[in-house]
Amino acid sequence: MAALFQFSIFNFQFIITTPVPPQEVIYVDHHATTPCDPRVVETMLPYFTEHFGNPASIAHHHGRKASMALEDARIAVARFFGVLPPEIYFTAGATESNNIALNLVGPDEHLVTGPGEHKSILAPASSKNVTYVQPDREGRITPEALRDALRPETRLVSIEAANGEIGTIQPIAELAALCRERKIFFHTDATQAAGKIPLDLGNVDLASFSAHKLYGPKGIGALFVRRGVRASPVVIGGGQERNVRSGTVNVPGAVGFAEALRLRAEEMADEALRLAQLRDELRDALVERIDGVLVNGPRELRLPGNLNVSFARIEAESLIIAMKRFSLSSGSACSTGEKGPSRVLKAIGLDDGAAMGSIRFGLGKSNTAEQVHMLTDDLQRVVRRLRELAPA
Ligand code: PMP
Repeated sequence: MAALFQFSIFNFQFIITTPVPPQEVIYVDHHATTPCDPRVVETMLPYFTEHFGNPASIAHHHGRKASMALEDARIAVARFFGVLPPEIYFTAGATESNNIALNLVGPDEHLVTGPGEHKSILAPASSKNVTYVQPDREGRITPEALRDALRPETRLVSIEAANGEIGTIQPIAELAALCRERKIFFHTDATQAAGKIPLDLGNVDLASFSAHKLYGPKGIGALFVRRGVRASPVVIGGGQERNVRSGTVNVPGAVGFAEALRLRAEEMADEALRLAQLRDELRDALVERIDGVLVNGPRELRLPGNLNVSFARIEAESLIIAMKRFSLSSGSACSTGEKGPSRVLKAIGLDDGAAMGSIRFGLGKSNTAEQVHMLTDDLQRVVRRLRELAPA
């Protein structure tokens, strides 16, 4: 990667390098999204063309065919998560699932959530009577911290199963059990955890999932709602999905989601081991070869493909631009248009400098040991060059 020239504007340093052909750019941002598995695409195709019926049109053959595929998909999703098929509601993705879950909290009721949750939790939470539980230095919400935040009028607790920025896996089984004892509903945004690590939904009342984070298609997700809990819709109209989410259901999407989960059931455990090993190699190489590397988030109980590090005296955005051979993302801009240091990193006590110099690595199925070596080499070279440009 030869540098053509270098310059800086305000605080940002730029290194203009020889262009990298698009097909050679390596994707290391699997928390943002994953490629749809070709086997998943294959199972979806007939539902765009041949079996295109509206699943609500059960009076005729075409509608029944689509409806049967949708119900088979519901069974497969339910089986993967160990819940009952009628407890699964298809949505357009986890944003919608999260919005529906939070809609359970009425004006006189109380919500408890964490400061590092996804925007689709934090945005609806902001107009409610809400308490944010502080995580520990590794981003973990302990049962003790949650207990302190509960009130007699608390209706819902919403804590993500795992964080997509620093990889922290939350003790949701314990948090959910605590809420169950107090007859408080417990919701988990399992978008980053589903299909990556085993999930225990035993005491969980509601859970959100999204297919595009687990090698399925975009635009389809699900909300698990335990039998007996009445979810309030956000999108209303035709009453599809038993009134929880109106709108014609994305049948090809649901079929693809089910197939993606079927493949995850086969491949998840081996892949988790492989990715955790690659992740640890990347972490150790960065710490060993580059000065001023701070690893953010936990060492154990962390999403297998997740690594988050802060590079001292580096602006993450400049690093990402200069790392032309890789698609990387910054911990400081996980939400579109969100400026400033990441909420997640601030919540675990990082100062602004460390938070603005953080990179989130999301390793996935396609990443190899060789790519991790290339990544380490490029990072070492680019960090050195950026620091030479702005030694202060
Ligand atoms: N929750 C979490 C933790 C996420 O990472 C995302 C996706 N960035 C979402 C919710 C939203 O998912 P979707 O794209 O399916 O709306």
